[in-house]
Amino acid sequence: MLRSQRKPILPPPRAEHEYVVSILTEQCDGCELCVEFCPTNVLEIDLEAYNSRMLHPVIAVKPDECVGCQQCERICPSVSIFVTEIQISQEGIDT
Ligand code: SF4
Ligand code: SF4
Repeated sequence: MLRSQRKPILPPPRAEHEYVVSILTEQCDGCELCVEFCPTNVLEIDLEAYNSRMLHPVIAVKPDECVGCQQCERICPSVSIFVTEIQISQEGIDT
């Protein structure tokens, strides 16, 4: 009986990315620039919280929506926000 030696050509295992948004609350001036420039509305000013300078800091209200564009990092005048990438590898399909 003739058996095929062919196997399907599959793409390499997909790497998924997640991003962690870190905010230095004490350093944040609450200027809202990062809020305005975030394309996915991850950030908001926390009107319930104050830092030691009596300013409302920013918080990440929808961290799962972060796409890692780093606009917030670039725009922040006080260098108070950082985005770290975490790579999650998925298992490939065994054939
Ligand atoms: S990296 Fe981009 S998507 Fe993520 S919080 Fe900053 S501006 Fe928003
Ligand atoms: S741009 Fe920087 S200082 Fe302004 S609200 Fe965002 S994190 Fe705070």
